[in-house]
Amino acid sequence: MFDELHEECGVFAIYNSADAAVNTALGLHALQHRGQESAGIVTMSGECFSAHFAEGLVSDNFNSSDIVKKLEGNLAIGHVRYSTAGKKTARNCQPIYAQLSFGFLAIAHNGNLTNANTLRNRLIKHGAIFQSTMDTEVIIHLIALSQKPTLHEKIIDAVSQIEGAFSLVIIHKDEIIAIRDPNGVRPLSIAKLGDAIAVASETCAFDIIGAKFMRDVEHGEMVIINKDGIKSLQPFEAKPSKFCIFEYVYFARPDSTIEGKNVYAMRKNIGIELAKEIQIDADVVVPVPDSGVPAAIGYAAQSKIPFELGIIRNHYVGRTFIEPTDKIRHFGVKLKHNANLEVVQGKRVVLVDDSLVRGTTSKKIVQMIRDAGAKEVYMLIASPPTIAPCFYGVDTPDKKDLVAANYTTEEIAKMIGVDKLGYISIDGLYRAIEGTKRDEANPQYCDACFTDKYPIRLSDKEGGSVPLFDFMK
Ligand code: SF4
Repeated sequence: MFDELHEECGVFAIYNSADAAVNTALGLHALQHRGQESAGIVTMSGECFSAHFAEGLVSDNFNSSDIVKKLEGNLAIGHVRYSTAGKKTARNCQPIYAQLSFGFLAIAHNGNLTNANTLRNRLIKHGAIFQSTMDTEVIIHLIALSQKPTLHEKIIDAVSQIEGAFSLVIIHKDEIIAIRDPNGVRPLSIAKLGDAIAVASETCAFDIIGAKFMRDVEHGEMVIINKDGIKSLQPFEAKPSKFCIFEYVYFARPDSTIEGKNVYAMRKNIGIELAKEIQIDADVVVPVPDSGVPAAIGYAAQSKIPFELGIIRNHYVGRTFIEPTDKIRHFGVKLKHNANLEVVQGKRVVLVDDSLVRGTTSKKIVQMIRDAGAKEVYMLIASPPTIAPCFYGVDTPDKKDLVAANYTTEEIAKMIGVDKLGYISIDGLYRAIEGTKRDEANPQYCDACFTDKYPIRLSDKEGGSVPLFDFMK
């Protein structure tokens, strides 16, 4: 019963690097916020591949020189995962790979395919045998079955059949291929490191290895990186840009720059717009750490109310420590957050958080601030009410569990125990990020979890398609 949204995955790839495995492990470490449940790396050395996958964090699984040494070759792709499409099992770790008629091929995917079950059922009827419940495996089958003559044409043929959100990196023999879906829902960028070329979900993964950002992979672009350099193709039907606006609000790391916009600056802008929309007579602005910090800085700057760290986060709380016993779980939010008494006691406190999902954590945080002696407690949310689930690569609860889908703002304020609850408006969010209001006819971003209007067809959902054999259950 999680109370936060989870980005599904992060991907990384590098071509022509003597330290391909090490650089990939470092890149994945920088992308750890995009998935903490498993990590995997596949490297290529000529026709031979090496792979290592494990559940858990990158730093836990790629910390031995023995493991990295075994990953031979100067090409690599890697993946960090938070399991949503497919059960949490070792078989669902990525990159996913297969030996096909034209050789070995591996894929790492960030996003979610909205017609995966439809395609999977069709493939199973034609004799395909699936090894995992991941939507990404469908792509491998489509490539394997394509009748096109060359690998690049087979990949184009396969990718033309999938729908939804996908930023892909593919490794095959002596080349890396990067593909971004035509709507550009998830980020993907390219950088240079000496003679090596790197591809990653976010630019923070380039900084850690000292690679220089070159450009984003364009929407609908297929980039082929091999001994001839970087070749760009636009083989897929052009579609309107629908980058996930929530990447700016919460998912991406603040030090990343995506689609030309620094994430930290966008979050500060959201705080500024929030202060323009909602004024509160208060003594102190306190972020819910860590993700509420930039918006709180923006809110404080615009409102001229002092910014203070009134909640301190314990960074050493591991999942394994929280989960095993009810006794420990009982401490709940206190394991992770503690009120800074000196800052909040006797004060009118404005709490700023990035989003409100179920509201259970907010309720505990508000109680904690009240217990610390705050006189009044307000909660401002740096995103509009989350009223609908995501089908494009973010793990969200069902609509029935999204508090804003079921209760009014006033009712939620009462439930979480604040004197007032406020959200930035959808137009305010667009002003902060785009500098203009939302284009109602053709919104500049995907904002479906705030509007319940899905810009990309949900074929599986519309067709009622479910996997024929969900054998991992
Ligand atoms: S539904 Fe929400 S989280 Fe999903 S892609 Fe759209 S904006 Fe992002």
